[in-house]
Amino acid sequence: MPGRQALAALRGHYPEFVPGEVWLVGAGPGDPGLLTLDALAGLLQADVVVHDALVDARVLALARSGAQMQFAGKRGGKPSIAQEDISAQLIALAHGGLRVLRLKGGDPFVFGRGGEEILALAAAGVAFRVVPGVTAGLSGLASAGIPATMRGVNQAIILATGHGPEEEGTMDWSALARTRQPIVLYMGLRNLENIAAALLRGGLPASTPAAVIASATLAKQQVLVSTLECIGAEALAANFAAPAIVVIGDIVHVRQQLLDASAQSAAIALAGGDALPGGSCACEG
Ligand code: SAH
Repeated sequence: MPGRQALAALRGHYPEFVPGEVWLVGAGPGDPGLLTLDALAGLLQADVVVHDALVDARVLALARSGAQMQFAGKRGGKPSIAQEDISAQLIALAHGGLRVLRLKGGDPFVFGRGGEEILALAAAGVAFRVVPGVTAGLSGLASAGIPATMRGVNQAIILATGHGPEEEGTMDWSALARTRQPIVLYMGLRNLENIAAALLRGGLPASTPAAVIASATLAKQQVLVSTLECIGAEALAANFAAPAIVVIGDIVHVRQQLLDASAQSAAIALAGGDALPGGSCACEG
C-alpha cells in the first residue's frame, strides 16, 4: 500500500482511523495527484465516505472496497441537503461506531463549511481529525501559471467568496479594491459582472488584468484572460462553467510572460487544456 509505506517512512507511524471518529478531509482541487498522504490513509480505512459534489471520481475510487459512499453535496441552484442535516448525519454515523470520512473539495476550512461541521461534532462529543487539503484558489492559480505572490507585484492575496449569504450586501468591495492586492474569487462566476462593477466603482482601473480558471488542475482546465472591465461578459460569452475561480490583479500578467518565455525555450509545463485568449469583448475601449 503506497500511502502506508510512505507515511510510515516519513512519520514513523501510519494514522489509525479509530471507529467512531470523523475525519474531515480536503480532497484537493481535482487532480488526484494533489491529494495528501493522510487523505489517502483516511480513504483506505474509512467505513463510510460522505462527500461533496466537487470531489473527483478518481479520488472517490481510492476508498476501501466495501466502504459506503454517501453524497452530501450542495449543487448551485438546486435544492441541497441542509448543513444541519449533514452534521447530524456525521454524528449519527460516528455514534454507530463507524470510521466516518467527510470528504470535501479543496481544503475543508476554505469556503467549505468545515468549521460548522467540527463545531457540531465537538458539541456532540465526537472525536475528529482535520486533514487539510490543497485549496482551489491557490492551486488553480498555480496550474494556470499565475504565481499567488510575486516579489515586486503583490504583498498580499485576498481569497473572497463571490457567493456568500451576505453577497454584495455586506462585502465592502471598495475596501478590497483599495488594497490594490490581487483578489481570488471562489464561487464568483455567477455574480462576476456585479462584483467587477463594484470593484470598478471602488477605484480599480478597468484595465486591471483578470482571469477565469475553470476545472483547474484537470485535463479539461480552461483559462480565460481578460480585463476587469470585460471579464464578466467574456466569461459569459465563452460559456465558462463552474467550478471556476476568478483572479483579478497584476499577477495575471505573469502568465503571459511565462507563456512567452516558454514558447522561446519550448519548456512549458502548465497543467490542463488550452488557454482561451479572450479579447473579444465589446466593452473594450
Ligand atoms: N473548499 C474548497 C472550496 C469550496 S467552494 C477549496 O478549498 O478549494 C467551491 C468553489 O471552489 C467553486 O465554486 C470554485 O470557485 C472553487 N473550485 C473548486 N474546485 C475548483 C477547480 N477544480 N477549479 C476551479 N475552481 C474550483
